Amino acid sequence: MSLITFLNTATKELEITEYRVLEKVLNIIHQTGDRFNEFKYKDVIKNEMDLFIINELIKNEVLIKSLLCECTTNDISAFIGYEDKNCPTCGKSVLDNNHETIDYYSIKEKSKIESLINELSIIEYVIDFTMGNLTDLIKKKESIVPFIGSGVSIPLDLPSWGSMIKDLKDEMEEMFRPAFLRYIDSGNYLKALTYLQENSLLDKDQIKEKIYGEFDKIPKDILYKEDSNYPDLYNLKPPFYITTNYDNFLTDYISKIESNVTVPYTWKDIINTQNLILENKKRVFHIHGHIQKQDTMIVTDEDYIDLYNQTNLKDKLLGIMGSNYLLFIGFSFNDEFFKKLYIDITSSIKGIHYIILPNISLENAKKISAKAPGLRIIGINVQKDEKGKYIVQDYVRAVRTVINTLINR
Ligand SMILES: [Zn+2]
Repeated sequence: MSLITFLNTATKELEITEYRVLEKVLNIIHQTGDRFNEFKYKDVIKNEMDLFIINELIKNEVLIKSLLCECTTNDISAFIGYEDKNCPTCGKSVLDNNHETIDYYSIKEKSKIESLINELSIIEYVIDFTMGNLTDLIKKKESIVPFIGSGVSIPLDLPSWGSMIKDLKDEMEEMFRPAFLRYIDSGNYLKALTYLQENSLLDKDQIKEKIYGEFDKIPKDILYKEDSNYPDLYNLKPPFYITTNYDNFLTDYISKIESNVTVPYTWKDIINTQNLILENKKRVFHIHGHIQKQDTMIVTDEDYIDLYNQTNLKDKLLGIMGSNYLLFIGFSFNDEFFKKLYIDITSSIKGIHYIILPNISLENAKKISAKAPGLRIIGINVQKDEKGKYIVQDYVRAVRTVINTLINR
C-alpha cells in the first residue's frame, strides 16, 4: 500500500495519466490543507471523482484518517481508535453529550507527490515528436532571447487584443463592422485598425489613445495576483527580451525584483544601437512600441511597413541578435500577423529559432516548418474546457515546464 499502488489504481479507474491524477490530488490538498477535519472535507469534496481519489488515498495510507474525540468536561481533544467507546481523558462514553467525535485527515508524503509531479511534467506537457527540438534548445540555453507575444499576457485576465479593439467597431457605420470583426477574428489586428482608420473619423493618435485607455484600466498589482509565465521568463535570465506587446508588465516585474531598474526600449531607441547582449540588463525591447511612448506604437499596416522597410530596424536586429536564438512564446501560427512578422524578422537575422505552440499536430508542424524557414517547434499539450478553449492555467503550467526544463537541465 503506497503512493505507487494508489497511482496504478487511479490511472486505470479514471483513465487519465499519472500526472493528471497527482494534479487532482494536489488540487484537493490545496483546498483542504495538509490536515483537515470532516467539515472541511464536506466543503471541498463534492464530486464523485474527488470522492474516489480521497477513498483510494485513505486505502493506500497516503491520506491518514483518524478519529478525534473532543472532551468538553476536560476541554481536551485526543485521538482515539474507531472501536474505542470511552474517552481517554475522563473515561466516560464518547457518545454522551459531553463528547464530540470528528473525523480528522492528514496527508503523508506531500513532498514526494510534488517531486513526482515535477518529474512527470515533461512527459505530460511536451509533445513527444517535438522533444528533440527541446533537447536541442537545452544545449543552446545560454543563448536564448525570448520573443514574447500577447498569449503570455492572457493569464493575467487582461482583455484580449481582439476584445480590446472590438468595441471600436462603434466608431464605424454598421455596413463596415462585419469586415472589421473578421479581421480581428483572423488575428489580423493591424489590418483591422487600418480598416478602422480608413472607415471612421478616428485618426491614428486617437486609436492609440483608445488602446492606452484599455491598458490603463488594468489594476497595477495584477502580476502578483494571477499566476502567469512572467516569473518563469525572468528566471530564464536572458540578456534581453523582445516583444510585440504594448504593455509593460515584464519590465514592471523585473524592476520590482532587480535593484537596478531597467527601462524598456522601443525601436526608436534601438536605431541608435545599444549592445543589449553586452549590457545584459534584461531590458524589454518593444519592437512595435509601448503604451508609455505612443509615438512608437505600430498600430496600422502603414506603420508596420514603414517600420520594416524604411527604418534600418532589420540591420539593427541583426546587430543586437549576434549568435542568439529566438524563442517565440505566446504567438499562434494561425495568426497572419505572426507569419508575416516571422518572415520579416528572420529575413535578415536568419539562423535557427524556436516557437512554443499548443496542441500542434505532426501534419501542422510540417506545414509550419515548410512555410517558416529555420523555425523549430516545441509543442505543448494544453487541456481544453468543455467549450474547446484552452484552459489558461494549464497553458501557464505547460510553458513553465518548458522553461524550467531549459533552466534545470
Ligand atoms: Zn472525556
